[in-house]
Amino acid sequence: LVSREVKSEDTVINIGGVLVGGTNLVVMAGPCAVESREQLLESAKIVKEAGAQFLRGGAYKPRTSPYSFQGLEEKGLKMLAEAREVTGLKVVTEVVDIQSVSVVSAYADVLQIGARNMQNFQLLKAVGKSGMPVLLKRGMAATINEWLHAAEYILSEGNFNVMFCERGIRTFEDYTRNTLDLSAVAALKDLSHLPVIVDPSHGTGVWKLVRPMAKAAVASGADGLMIEVHPNPAEALSDGSQSLTPANFQALMNEVGIIAAAV
Ligand code: PEP
Ligand code: MN
Repeated sequence: LVSREVKSEDTVINIGGVLVGGTNLVVMAGPCAVESREQLLESAKIVKEAGAQFLRGGAYKPRTSPYSFQGLEEKGLKMLAEAREVTGLKVVTEVVDIQSVSVVSAYADVLQIGARNMQNFQLLKAVGKSGMPVLLKRGMAATINEWLHAAEYILSEGNFNVMFCERGIRTFEDYTRNTLDLSAVAALKDLSHLPVIVDPSHGTGVWKLVRPMAKAAVASGADGLMIEVHPNPAEALSDGSQSLTPANFQALMNEVGIIAAAV
């Protein structure tokens, strides 16, 4: 079902009036995690003013260490919904398990499946059944073929509102957090009709590399970007080193707009 062979034209997903896919470029931006009401509302205003269509922010955080900040859970979801009320931004946030699909669906516009859950097949079936738009991140050691099959799990439940998100893969290179695989964008656009989003924040782990790779992502044919932005990256509870300041995010939006108009 995900294959370009069964559907030749690009899938365009309508998310509350915001179109993802086709000739549109969308930007999903915000903090790694929802940390507080003030932090989230400030972030939302920043990304809205810079021209983003979606607010990102995790309320359930899949952290490497159990002692790291785990997220505000439903309190965080309520803050995301409030930020949507105030700004009109659509909300994309991660769902980490089957039990929380219904509560996340009640507050979010898009369910994010994180890299660590790309092959959690029971969760893929559950978000498929939910009918909600899904952002399917690439597993950190997943091949393109495995990723396509993960998407197939969602579509096979009757839910065609799926976007891929390239977020970097594990390689021998450890200067960057992950290796952003932009060839996957071109490959997916050839193999599938579904939209492809690129996350250069997790893809590099280094804020200085985010703007150049965002430009390259758009040039490679991505339908959208996911960017971590924090009002004060130095104080972020997670992923501060890859988060853009408001000024850098504004600069990224200006640069990317020029490239999007040219491709
Ligand atoms: C995130 O988007 O904050 C995140 C945890 O991403 P990933 O699943 O790609 O690591
Ligand atoms: Mn993050």
